[in-house]
Amino acid sequence: MTRTCRNCKRTFSSELELELHRDVCSDAQLVCEVCGERFAERYATTDGWRYDCPNDDCDGTGLKEDLRPVSDVLVSQ
Ligand SMILES: [Zn+2]
Ligand SMILES: [Zn+2]
Repeated sequence: MTRTCRNCKRTFSSELELELHRDVCSDAQLVCEVCGERFAERYATTDGWRYDCPNDDCDGTGLKEDLRPVSDVLVSQ
């Protein structure tokens, strides 16, 4: 069964390959500090104003609050 990266649509043959890819996927610009998920900015907002974590069971919300640019997080670590 193939897995698809929901950010860049690349496909992988296993969950592990997908997980390894997700850490380096260049289309994932935001990271949720609540659940740790990375995703493309367009998945976190519908109107470009209000941002919510696209993960259904996570209440992460707010750009620069719970959702931060991946580059910010990498710099601050
Ligand atoms: Zn990807
Ligand atoms: Zn989240």
